[in-house]
Formats: sequence, structure tokens, C-alpha cells
Amino acid sequence: MLVAVVDRSGRGGTRKVKAAFEEVTEKYAAHGLALRLPVTAEIARMAIMGASKSTSDRHTLFVSARAVESDLLDGLIAHEMGHMLRTEAGHPSHNSEVFGALQHEVKIPRAAEGAFGQAFNHIQDVYADDLSFLVFATDGSDRAYEFFAAWVDGNTSAGGTNRWQNIGLATSNGFAIGNLLRHKLIASNDKLWDLARSFDQKSGFSLVDDLAAFYANLPSDPAPAAFVGEVKRLAQLMSRAAAT
Ligand SMILES: [Zn+2]
Repeated sequence: MLVAVVDRSGRGGTRKVKAAFEEVTEKYAAHGLALRLPVTAEIARMAIMGASKSTSDRHTLFVSARAVESDLLDGLIAHEMGHMLRTEAGHPSHNSEVFGALQHEVKIPRAAEGAFGQAFNHIQDVYADDLSFLVFATDGSDRAYEFFAAWVDGNTSAGGTNRWQNIGLATSNGFAIGNLLRHKLIASNDKLWDLARSFDQKSGFSLVDDLAAFYANLPSDPAPAAFVGEVKRLAQLMSRAAAT
């Protein structure tokens, strides 16, 4: 249940957020999915579109003023609610006990921490979107494709200055394409593949095919140990690219 919407941006939109939240909640309910804990929403000035934070007794949803004004507000709320549902369910990708095990078992070089952190967040995004795609992008529109295509466009023109930064961008491409692949929303000859592959080539490694397959094929409900194994595999793929 949404208990409050607070506007910290000074740009309004609380009613729009409330309406979108209720619409998404209803759509999830039709799939038998409902949050147990209360949610507080905050409209904030921030660089990213949105985020969420969960504790044992509540969730906080952060929505950027830009997202409130965009036509992707429902998609963003569906995505963040996907994270909240996964957290409440204790899914290994959103479970603090499993995070503890990961810290012991997955070794990454210090220089890779930023890129690997992003890549791990994308694993969580895949699992959030396995839920959010049930209620978003089901109307036959290409909103999800357009969203992730813009993402790949932005990444490939960003081009970082060091290897791990580029691997981070490549990982983000792998996630964007892999997520579309997982939901059968991208063809094998789509131009996004070429964009991402030529970014890899320029950077001197080859990652997008392996990473897209990795994100596309993550098992939907792994046991904790199997999940740790998947995260290790991701770290290996990235480390191998760094060594080439
Ligand atoms: Zn997310």
C-alpha cells in the first residue's frame, strides 16, 4: 500500500505518481502479486530515473522529477516494485544472507569493483523485470525495446577511457540486449547487436554475445548456491575480457 507521496523536487506530480502506482498495483494483483509492506514515494531531483530502498518494515520509492514528467513513469514504478517484491520474497538476488556469501566467494580485483557492482545490479534488474514485464510492455507496444535501445546508444557513444570503465559499459549493453532477448523482444539481426559488437571491438574485447546470453538465461528461481555460481560466472566473463 502506498502510504504517502512526498514531493522534494518542488515540481509537483504527487497525484500522477499516486495514480500510476495504483494502476501498476492493480495489474500486479491480476498476476497474484502484492506487496506486504507499506511504500512511501519521494519525488526527488536526481540523475537516475528512479531507485528504491527496502528495510524490514517498509519500502521507499524514489522517482526523479524527470521520470514523473516522462511517459515511462508506469514502467519505472513497475520495475522498482519488481525489486520490492523480490526483496519481500527473499529471492537470492535480493537477499542479504546471500550477499554475505557472495562477498566471501566472488573475488574481483579492486579496479573492477565499479564495473562489477553495475553488472551485479543488472542481475537484480533482470529479476525485477521478470516481474515488471508481466505488467509493462504487454500491450504489444515497443516501449521496452525503445527504452533499452536508447540505453545501448548512450553507452556506445560514451566510450570510457580505461578498460574496466569500458567493460562496465559493455556489461550494460549486454544487460540491455540480454533482457530484451530474455523476453523475446529483439531479433538476432537487430542493429543493437552491431552497435554493441563494434563498441567491444573498439575497446579490444568481445563481451556482448556472452553477456547477453548470460543475462537472458539466468535461471528464474535458483537456489542460493546456484545463484552464487551464476555471479561467479559473471565475474569470470568480465575478468577474462579485462585480461585480453
Ligand atoms: Zn533496478
